Amino acid sequence: MNRPNPILSGITCRCPVCGKGPLFEGVLKVRKQCKSCSADLSKAESGDGPVVFILLIVGAIGCGGLLYTELTFHPPAWVELSIWIPATIALSLGAIRPFKSLMIAAQFHFHASEAKGSDVAPR
Ligand SMILES: [Zn+2]
Repeated sequence: MNRPNPILSGITCRCPVCGKGPLFEGVLKVRKQCKSCSADLSKAESGDGPVVFILLIVGAIGCGGLLYTELTFHPPAWVELSIWIPATIALSLGAIRPFKSLMIAAQFHFHASEAKGSDVAPR
């Protein structure tokens, strides 16, 4: 079976093995098994990876946008905050599913696993 493109299967929240079945069974809960190819997805774990990327990217967009509007239009503070706080929250919530899926797809693509004692080089 040809492996799907990890970026495409990640962004579309599809199974990292076949690229067809849905990865999530709830909002952010990863399925134990793919509906399409029956791949075992129970070991898929993205940890804090997606949150770090979202924090950096959405933080840069939010802070950059706030700085741009302040320096360009000089609106009152309440206008800026009423634009950029909801925008930052919406961007963060909208990005969490695709980023989590992207991290899991990268895990499967690069065969990432938990580090073991045998992975450490002997002295
Ligand atoms: Zn699958």
